Amino acid sequence: KMGEKREEKKVLEALNLYYQQCLEKEPEAKTYLQKRGIYDALVEKFEIGYAPPSHATLRFLQEHGFTVNDAKEVGAADVGENGRPYARFMERITFPIYSPSGKIVGFGGRTISGHVAKYVNSPQSKVFNKSFLLYGYHLAKEHILKEKRIIVTEGYLDVIMLHQAGFSTAVATLGTALTSEHLPLLSRGNPSVVLSYDGDEAGIAAALKASRLLSTHNIAGGVVIFKEGLDPADMVQRGEQALLAKLFDAPQPFVEFCLERTIKSFNLKDPLQKQRALEEATAFLKSLPAVVANAYQGMLADML
Ligand code: ATP
Ligand code: MN
Ligand code: MN
Ligand code: MN
Repeated sequence: KMGEKREEKKVLEALNLYYQQCLEKEPEAKTYLQKRGIYDALVEKFEIGYAPPSHATLRFLQEHGFTVNDAKEVGAADVGENGRPYARFMERITFPIYSPSGKIVGFGGRTISGHVAKYVNSPQSKVFNKSFLLYGYHLAKEHILKEKRIIVTEGYLDVIMLHQAGFSTAVATLGTALTSEHLPLLSRGNPSVVLSYDGDEAGIAAALKASRLLSTHNIAGGVVIFKEGLDPADMVQRGEQALLAKLFDAPQPFVEFCLERTIKSFNLKDPLQKQRALEEATAFLKSLPAVVANAYQGMLADML
């Protein structure tokens, strides 16, 4: 069993180096990263790579003594219905995903050729459990402990671009909602949590759910959401660093965000709807620690 674990790690590490070498040889992929505004230093820091067509990766694995099964076990290859093996990541920008202690556990891959699946991630396995991992945590952790803040985003690019702009406490969930399984890692060192999700409907809905979760667990922090569907990566690319710094220093507190969003979903001019808004907001406040709930009663009354 020990030997097995070592092998798994070796395949992922070998592939990670291979993908980074492939990026150097693929002008289209390099141009893509430049167009996204990512500097070379960040490509290095986050070990961004490029997964070539499937046959090339399979040949690399074979030449380095890995079987298809070795790669399959870590989710880097699979066998199709026709019995032929194929590499999971092909013609995609690759983002290695590390455990909090700095071991590589999987990859995310973004298409650069408009493939219908914009992202492909490693499948769930015993080494890769995305429900409690946070992308970028291994690089962010010392900053999180020092600054007592953690910025949680939706995507790989958000993390990379925020680090590029000097916000080194940024992490992301891996294409999943923030759930209670993330809380142990998220609350290490008791940082204040800033949720910075995409400024679209999906992002706002996800931020609302996450804010409810965090406020019921008495975790301090708030929400920063941008207008017009923008995400943190877009903001950095637009040169909005100063605005970001200001917003991250004063996020809208979770409870306030939840109350505002709840109330906004009702038409307060209609007394029946106003009553329902009050009921829903009150039910939310009841889920909070009593002292917190009491502190927000007045705000709820004002909002209504
Ligand atoms: P980009 O700026 O390159 O479009 P993004 O991070 O803004 O990337 P979103 O569509 O906002 O992309 O998605 C946020 C995150 O959700 C991604 O980083 C990825 O982890 C996950 N995700 C998005 N689309 C998919 C998909 N089709 N399959 C799996 N995960 C996905
Ligand atoms: Mn999105
Ligand atoms: Mn996004
Ligand atoms: Mn984006």
